[in-house]
Order: sequence, then C-alpha cells, then structure tokens
Amino acid sequence: MNVNQSVPPVPSFGQPQPVYPGYHQSSYGGQSGSTAPTIPYGAYNGPVSGYQQTPPQGMSRAPPSSGAPPTSTAQAPCGQAAYGQFGQGDVQNGPSSTVQMQRLPGSQPFGSPLAPVGNQPAVLQPYGPPPTSAQVTAQLSGMQISGAVAPAPPSSGLGYGPPTSLASASGSFPNSGLYGSYPQGQAPPLSQAQGHPGIQTPQRSAPSQASGFTPPASGGPRLPSMTGPLLPGQSFGGPSVSQPNHVSSPPPQALPPGTQMTGPLGPLPPMHSPQQPGYQPQQNGSFGPTRGPQPNYGSPYPAAPTFGSQSGPQPLPPKRLDPDAIPSPIQVIEDDRNNRGTEPFVTGVRGQVPPLVTTNFLVKDQGNASPRYIRCTSYNIPCTSDMAKQAQVPLAAVIKPLARLPPEEASPYVVDHGESGPLRCNRCKAYMCPFMQFIEGGRRFQCCFCSCINDVPPQYFQHLDHTGKRVDAYDRPELSLGSYEFLATVDYCKNSKFPSPPAFIFMIDVSYNAIRTGLVRLLCEELKSLLDFLPSLLDQIPEMFADTRETETVFVPVIQAGMEALKAAECAGKLFLFHTSLPIAEAPGKLKNRDDRKLINTDKEKTLFQPQTGAYQTLAKECVAQGCCVDLFLFPNQYVDVATLSVVPQLTGGSVYKYACFQVENDQERFLSDLRRDVQKVVGFDAVMRVRTSTGIRAVDFFGAFYMSNTTDVELAGLDGDKTVTVEFKHDDRLNEESGALLQCALLYTSCAGQRRLRIHNLALNCCTQLADLYRNCETDTLINYMAKFAYRGVLNSPVKAVRDTLITQCAQILACYRKNCASPSSAGQLILPECMKLLPVYLNCVLKSDVLQPGAEITTDDRAYVRQLVTSMDVAETNVFFYPRLLPLTKSPIESTTEPPAVRASEERLSNGDMYLLENGLNLFLWVGASVQQGVVQSLFSVSSFSQITSGLSVLPVLDNPLSKKVRGLIDSLRAQRSRYMKLIVVKQEDKLEMLFKHFLVEDKSLSGGASYVDFLCHMHKEIRQLLS
Ligand SMILES: [Zn+2]
Repeated sequence: MNVNQSVPPVPSFGQPQPVYPGYHQSSYGGQSGSTAPTIPYGAYNGPVSGYQQTPPQGMSRAPPSSGAPPTSTAQAPCGQAAYGQFGQGDVQNGPSSTVQMQRLPGSQPFGSPLAPVGNQPAVLQPYGPPPTSAQVTAQLSGMQISGAVAPAPPSSGLGYGPPTSLASASGSFPNSGLYGSYPQGQAPPLSQAQGHPGIQTPQRSAPSQASGFTPPASGGPRLPSMTGPLLPGQSFGGPSVSQPNHVSSPPPQALPPGTQMTGPLGPLPPMHSPQQPGYQPQQNGSFGPTRGPQPNYGSPYPAAPTFGSQSGPQPLPPKRLDPDAIPSPIQVIEDDRNNRGTEPFVTGVRGQVPPLVTTNFLVKDQGNASPRYIRCTSYNIPCTSDMAKQAQVPLAAVIKPLARLPPEEASPYVVDHGESGPLRCNRCKAYMCPFMQFIEGGRRFQCCFCSCINDVPPQYFQHLDHTGKRVDAYDRPELSLGSYEFLATVDYCKNSKFPSPPAFIFMIDVSYNAIRTGLVRLLCEELKSLLDFLPSLLDQIPEMFADTRETETVFVPVIQAGMEALKAAECAGKLFLFHTSLPIAEAPGKLKNRDDRKLINTDKEKTLFQPQTGAYQTLAKECVAQGCCVDLFLFPNQYVDVATLSVVPQLTGGSVYKYACFQVENDQERFLSDLRRDVQKVVGFDAVMRVRTSTGIRAVDFFGAFYMSNTTDVELAGLDGDKTVTVEFKHDDRLNEESGALLQCALLYTSCAGQRRLRIHNLALNCCTQLADLYRNCETDTLINYMAKFAYRGVLNSPVKAVRDTLITQCAQILACYRKNCASPSSAGQLILPECMKLLPVYLNCVLKSDVLQPGAEITTDDRAYVRQLVTSMDVAETNVFFYPRLLPLTKSPIESTTEPPAVRASEERLSNGDMYLLENGLNLFLWVGASVQQGVVQSLFSVSSFSQITSGLSVLPVLDNPLSKKVRGLIDSLRAQRSRYMKLIVVKQEDKLEMLFKHFLVEDKSLSGGASYVDFLCHMHKEIRQLLS
C-alpha cells in the first residue's frame, strides 16, 4: 500500500521536489473536513451520466496474424468494433468491481477540500495589473481617443509551408517496409535513455517529461512528511486567499474593468432599456444561417468597409480608428509577462486563471494540474445552463496529458499500489485524488465526482487529523497533487497481459520521384545514424531502386502491412511513412485527383476537406485497435489529397509533415530535424483517455487527433507530448458555488519502455451565479483555441461562410451579453470589452481570415487540409502564435542584448524600411529586410555589399563572425527550438515579389483574400453587438 515501495525505478514521493523542497500545508484541504462529518454525505442523483459499466471482458482483437512486413495488398477486414469496450470495461474503469456502494440520504456537498466559495472572493481577476478599466474612446467624428489600453491575453501558433507550385508528375511506389523493432525493454533507439529523448528546446533541455517513461531519479528515502513554509496560495480555507498577481475586483457598483470604445459607427442609436430581450442565444454547435442579414460581412471585404453605414448616410471614407487606441496583443502579452512572469504559479487555489501562454513562469503543483497540462476557457463556470447559454462562452478544456515540462519542474510522481491497483470510486470509477473526502475516521471516503461513499481498503487506511485530513496526505501524490501517475496492473492491459515494448517501423516510398529527389538516399543515411542496426539494408535500398521507373504508388496497403507486422509481433508501435504522390496504383485506397479550386465559396467546398473514400477510416480503426500510430511524411510535387491521406495519422494520434517540392539541398535540414524530433518524442501508446467531471457538468464533445467508438473514451493509438485533446463541457444540472466543479483526466497508456501506466490530472474550477465572475475569469487564448478547432471541424460539414458567420455571431453574443449584464450603462456608441476578452475580436479575426476559412489565391487545397489537420491538435501556445504571428525587429535593440527583442504588432505600418524583422508563426519563419537598411548591416548579415545583392528567398544565412550575424542566427535557433516543428527560413526583401507571401502574415492588415483589417473588424463587431442589444 505504500507509495512507491515495490518498484525500484519509481521515485519516492517523499523526495523533495526540485522546485520547492518539501511542503507542509497544514491548512490544505483540511478545513472542510471538520464540517464534513457534520453534514454527512452528498446526494446521489442517480447514476452518473456518461459512465457505462461494462463487463470486464477482454477486448476482441484479431489474433496476431502472420502478416509480414512487406507490402501486402490484402485489404484488412475491419471488424474491430470491440476496441471501444475495452476502454470502458477493463481499462479505463479497471476491473469491474462488485464492491457495494452506499448512498446516504440527504443531499450535501461532498465537502471537497476546497474552500467554500465564500472564502474566495469573487474577485479573482484573470490577468493583469490593477483594475485597469482600459478605455478606448474613439468618437466617430472628431475621433477622440482617450484612455489607455489595458493588458489582455496573448497568442502563439503554427503555419503551413509556402505555397506550393504544382509540377506535373504522377507517383507510384513499391514500397519497402523497413522493419525495426526495438530490443526488449528499450525505447525506440534514437532516444538516448528511454523516455528522455533529447528534447530540442534549448531552454528546456532535459525532457522533463518524466511522463512515466523515465522516472525521475530513482527513489530516495521517503520523507515522513514534507515540511516547509506555507506557500502563497497554499491555504485553501483561509479567508480570502488572495491570488498572487490577481487584482481584487472593484466594488460591486464599479464598472468592471473593460475596454470601452466609442464607436466610429455613426450616429448612436438611443440606448435601450436593459430589459430588452436583445438577442437570441444561439445553439452552440450548429452552423448555419442563425444570424440575421449581414451586410456584406463574411464575404470578401469590400474595399471600403461598409459596416456601420447602416445607421447613417455616410459611407464616406470612414476615418480610421487609431490603431494605437485599440487593444494591442503585444501590450497585453507584455503586461502579463511583467505582472505574472516573476512568481511561480501555485496551483493550490481553486479557479485561478494562470498566466498567459506567452509568459514564462514556473508552476508549483499544490493540488491542481499545471496549466501546461490543462487550460480552460474559463476558470469560473456559470452555475446554470441558462447562464451559460446567455453568455455563449464555450466551456472547454484544452488538455495535453503528456506535456513536456521545463527542467525546473518535477515530472509527475509514479505511485504503485501493487496488486490492488489504483484506488477508485466504486461507482464512477474516478481515481483517488486530493478532492476525495475521507470520513468516519478515515474508514470511508466520499467521491468528489459522484458523491458515492466508498470503503477504504484496509491496506489504504490512515487516520485523520483534527481537520479531517489524512495524516499521510502529503506523503501521497494522489492525495496532495494535481498530477501523478499510477502503475497499472494487469487488469488494465489488453487481454490481461502486460504489453510488449512498442516498435517503430519505417516505410519508405522508393518510387521514381522519391529516388530522383534524393529523398531515399538522404533518409537512409539518416536512419543509419538513428538506428545502428540494419545498416546494410539501408545501404542497399537506394541502390536497389536507383533505376526505378515506377511512378505509381500505393498507400493503404503500406499501412496495412505495417500494422500486420505489429499485430504479428503482438505489440503497439508507430509507423513512419514517407510518401511522395497521390496513390493512383490499382490497390485498396486508390485515389483520384479531385482537386478543384472552383469549389471554393460554393456549397461543395466542404468536400475538399473530406476524405474521398471510406477505406482510410476503416484502416484507421484497425490501426487504433492494434495500437498502431501512423506518422506521415509527405513530399508532394503536386496534389496528393492531404485530406484523405491524413485520415489515418489523424485518427491514430499521429502527425503529418508536408514538404512541398522537396529538394535535398533546400529542405533536408527541415526534414531531418522534424524526423529526429519526431522519432525521439515521448509517446504513450495504445492509450485511452477519459475525462470525468463532478455532478452537474459533463464532457460532451472532443477535438483532436484520436478515435472514438463511444461517447466517452478517447482512443489514441499513440499520443505524444505535443498533442492536445480539447474537451467541451455542458451542464447536466445546476452547479454549486460552494463545491465548485471538478475535472479528472485519466490517460491509460503504454510507455516507450512497455510499462502500462495511468496518468491522472485533476483540476478544480469555481462556479458563479454572476456573469461578471465568468467574464473576469476567462482566458481568451484558450477560447480562440477552442473556437478555431470548432470552426475547422465545422468546415467538414457546413459551408465555410456559414462557419465564419457562426463564429462572428457567437463572438458578438459573448460581448453583447457582457455589455448588457456586466458593464455599467453607457452610450450605445461605446464598444465595451471585458478586460479578459479585449483581444477576442483581433484574434477571432485572425481565425476568420486564416487559410482554412478564407483562402488566398496562392493557397492550395492540400495546404488547407494540412493546416486544418494541424490545428486540430495544437495546444494554446501554438494556436496563439499561429493565428497571430510574432514580428520581431532586429536592429532596434542593442546588439549585445541577449534577450528576444520586444515584438511589434503584425501590421505593415509597424515595419520600418530601415530595419529588418523576423516573423514566425510556429510553421513559417521570414526575415524581412527593409530597402533602406544600412549597408553595414547588410554586409554583416548577408556578406554582400548592398541590398540589391541579397538573394531573395534565401533560406540559410551565411555564418559570419560578427556580433550581428551571431545574434540573428542565435535568435533564429532560439525561435526554432521553441516550436515543435522546424521552421524553414525565407528571406524576403521589401518590394520584392516574395513580399506578398510575407504580408499574408501581417494579420492586423486587410488581406488580399478579402480578410478584414483589425480596425475594420472591430468596427464590424461593434455594429453586431449593437444590433444584438437593440
Ligand atoms: Zn464517484
């Protein structure tokens, strides 16, 4: 029963954690214990919805077939419907128990260790400095701008490759499946030390990801209990725990902080009475013509914005709103860094909004999962579904279960309960966590999720202290931390058998194009250094196929073969598939070229995002059943139908990489870097994830790269440390302010070393009866992450315009609800934005004009499908920079400065032709050179004597021994290291042809494809809000 006692490699929990040596929280979780006994147990409201009890039957997997690695053409039968059950019956829920549960009458909050809400002033204010009531007042005529803009949330993200030009070619390929299974007990070869792949993030060297793959240092002696000073935020119950860096909200009557702006929209309509019904809440999930007539918005923007004209006869060139007077992402990011980047974020307080993803901060786990694992759209959930509908703020969590951590933060501790396995609630199967309430002297505990009363098994018994808390609470990760792991017992394994270590299989396209471009030779060379066995075969492949004329390729049979090989080896694993062309050869999964840009802006546009045949989905299901994750590396010279080819990677938790018009000399660094990183990634295999919630809310929708065969279990053939699963919640019932709402994410997976583990993340949120509390505790970056994923999935089934309109409507409703219910009465001509959402318009506009929702002429169908697929599993930091790229001036800061230069807003207006800028969005990296850059600078960086001699489109800077060259190259390296994919550099000269490409990323400006400028969009949003309010 002791934590970590039987398994040597498991670190002892008692070990002081790297970050904060020992802690002793006398008040943590305890205080409510004293009340718990008096008010017995919670009400049992019937079976928890969502939980389905399944008999502990093993999963039905096809028996290992004798399939051999070489390409087989047989189409696999697809009868693995049984996999889903597996997750429920014996996996996620463990062995079905027969233990009886008790339900006591009387309803009563289960008394989680959380402080009653009363103690938690409804003042938690998300970000920022003092209650800045940032106001931006811009009067239409006269355009007076007053007030300063206060800080708001930030962003970060990814992109896609440069437009690909299509060459004509037809591909084909016999395929040689290289099959390398890792030696027993070893993680995939390349990773030095299993589980500790050399993560290439500079500042985060070690793969702190302990993710169970490599236990953090082996267990030292166990400390009896951790002692230490009470940390900030640690006391749960104390009266008004003030949140570090949070500001108290103003007195009730005071105007909640918000950004106000008097609209430039013409004559102000009279204010209407507050009771005005206003607008109709819109069903969250439906796309469609929910909004009223919309003057021109959504379709390409007219040259002069026409919105606003509705209220007055003045379609004259409207005066421009001063861009400096509208909320600036740069300012918000900067303010958050200054205000919240200095102190660690301590997770002991329920409902705390974490610092922005763009802020560097350390996390101390004191009972809730780190924001690196879970971020929410709001940390304060409306108590009722009516309130939630009124506000239209989606309630969602972006979860990255295996997130990498910086080296300063401890990886989750691993808990071993021996043969009895993890302790769980008998009814809802939630795992033991800090919010479970021990009662009756410690003999029983009440489940914080479903209120069921459970017996404490004798071996787990412990006495309670005077506050009702177990005296060993701080010796046990599962009683004191937000995140931890359990070693799984054999009951959590397929067929009741511990898994074999996963295998990696490389499957290389050796068709004409692949050979001609040098890809095969390059790849084989690289693999030799990555795998030191199989060298001879790798030497032979390029020779064997050197003279191939084969241009037709197959795809489905290749994956099929790899999967069969894993099946035969009875293990999970990953296929690395290298492919060049549309699979047109006669074989299962054969595709046609159906690229048709004429479908854009028609009702059939959605077909461009849908797979052209069901064969891929069928195959993907089989792969998931086998725990076979597929990573796809594409090297297309023309249309390859990414929408179809990416189905298998998408459903198996894999990744897709695309290198259009691949040329060894220009692209090898990018490809090899991506491959190395991918091979070394920490991956959990054959995984099932379940998100449980406390009574009243329920997970209803999921976004990401995975497969679901029922409504609750997220099945992942593989899950790496970069992938997120986004979960949306809806109300089932009324929530309680006092008890708040709880989430528990449980991920069952097989580590690279073949160990079966459960990773648990817990998060407690506040609940509110006042809308203002909701708006004060939102996180716009997470909201945008969710909204982008929602929209990107929507385009599969709805016209793109309808999807855009839905987003706009929802955003307007969110802001109108705030205006109506939370802001003080003011002229309708003022645009008032909630402090935490003041960047919502600018970021939403970036999503609306992204390539998926509003493609430019140079964007290919494959690019759109590719980006759509990538965004689906991005985390919040990635979507942030992807949608609003970072633009860094290079010569403004002192040459000796080693920190990143402060970013400027992504607008052409911010570019000085005497400077150079780096722009990155996580996928793309540009170096823009102004036409008037000093000659000395040009010489130092490019080794040429004048601007005109700089090669446009250059992708590598010369290595020169001078401070500027070193600085810029160092900065580029640093930016690359921060992202999960290698960003190829493109040098763009001012006024050069390539500049168009670069300008596409200046997202505050009007785009060539018709996307609105930030200023125009803000005006439009203001108009929408006014319409809703009138
Ligand atoms: Zn329960």
